[in-house]
Amino acid sequence: MKKTIQFQECSATDESRLMALQTVLEKTKKPFKSGDSIGIKLHWGEIGNKNYLSPVYAREIVKWLQAGGTKPFIVDTTVLYSGGRRDGRESLNTAAKHGFTEEYLGCEVIIGDGLDGKNIIDLPAGFKHFPTVQTGKVVQDADGFVIFSHFKGHMEAAFGGSIKNMSMGFASRAQKQRMHADAKPKLIQAKCIKCGECADVCPTGAATITENNFPVYDLLKCIGCAQCIALCPETALKIRWDTDIKVFQEKLVETAAAVWRVIQDKTVVINAVIEIVAECDCLPGKHQKIAEDKGFISAYHPVLADAEAIKLIGGAPFDQAHQHIPWQRQFEYAKEIGFCM
Ligand code: SF4
Ligand code: SF4
Repeated sequence: MKKTIQFQECSATDESRLMALQTVLEKTKKPFKSGDSIGIKLHWGEIGNKNYLSPVYAREIVKWLQAGGTKPFIVDTTVLYSGGRRDGRESLNTAAKHGFTEEYLGCEVIIGDGLDGKNIIDLPAGFKHFPTVQTGKVVQDADGFVIFSHFKGHMEAAFGGSIKNMSMGFASRAQKQRMHADAKPKLIQAKCIKCGECADVCPTGAATITENNFPVYDLLKCIGCAQCIALCPETALKIRWDTDIKVFQEKLVETAAAVWRVIQDKTVVINAVIEIVAECDCLPGKHQKIAEDKGFISAYHPVLADAEAIKLIGGAPFDQAHQHIPWQRQFEYAKEIGFCM
């Protein structure tokens, strides 16, 4: 069962997408027992984001789990950003605005690291960047998981799928900061139109506008979240990598690998390879589409599910959308640390 992959293609209509997910679920065996409490780990979208996965898919997974006698719940964690998910209450409000309500979904919606972000645990890791990783305690508490991920581009990792959802998605806020700490902005002044957008989105006040209306960045205050870089309308900001460009991906993979050790025997991984845009659902706005819809994948390993998605899409859209970010590093490093099938 471990190497089994299910795939169903779809076109870019709501009906075709839902039917593809239903078909994949019908073919996917559940590694759960009746009565188990199963977390559906997903991303309900930052406030203002227009590309997040509709709750209609989460509801379908809820029905699939309930039909097997398990007790599903929807889960995400608090984030570093100043948008609509920084603490648990804000994040639940955002979830509700995007349609992820208990009434609609038919199950509880919770914050995996607690409403105050403090319900966390340290997991042993033993890797070169992280001896331990810190995540929401839900990783340990749930009887099982469905890791349900939107496969699309990402400003620091080139693509984001199951690996990223399990890693950044379960990480405590401190662990998120440890992963993000290496990518900070560098201004190309000739391209800057002095719009001030970077200062508006900066969650720490590191980006400010000077008297001549050009922005400056206080690198001591900067947490490396890359929101300014991704949202600059003129691509006037480049990543000033404090360390090797590959380190962010390695940190992402280490965190996912540590989580996987805890949940590997009780988890199904589903990638929605639809609405494939250049940027992450963490960013507000409607992002540029970089590939046509492919369909839904289910698997029992996140690296396998992400590799299958890349096989379907090809690497070129990610190379073009995020030039100079070697997305292959997620797979290479997963292999190097034994986080693969
Ligand atoms: S968002 Fe970009 S163009 Fe606007 S002020 Fe910042 S760097 Fe300049
Ligand atoms: S990366 Fe940009 S938005 Fe994020 S903290 Fe640093 S200056 Fe602010």
